[in-house]
Amino acid sequence: MSDPNKCSKCGSSRIIRGDLGLRTSRDLELIMVVRKDHGIEKKVPLLPKVCGECGFVDLFVREPENLIIDQSDKPINPDYKNRPLLESDF
Ligand SMILES: [Zn+2]
Repeated sequence: MSDPNKCSKCGSSRIIRGDLGLRTSRDLELIMVVRKDHGIEKKVPLLPKVCGECGFVDLFVREPENLIIDQSDKPINPDYKNRPLLESDF
């Protein structure tokens, strides 16, 4: 595992602090990682880690577990028909 407080390219600890987010320039909406599977849609914001030394940008999500689909999730399209969810899908 790489140190979250260090640049994974140059090893510098000058990581830019504060509330950083990837946004579109027009409406400043956060860029999301969207997972679509079994007709279910899950999303979490995609966040950058920026090195103040070399400018390398690492991308991460803060709550990857929010992309996990479980049996309580309902398909966005109620008419969605496909093979039923299996235990092995999780
Ligand atoms: Zn760096």
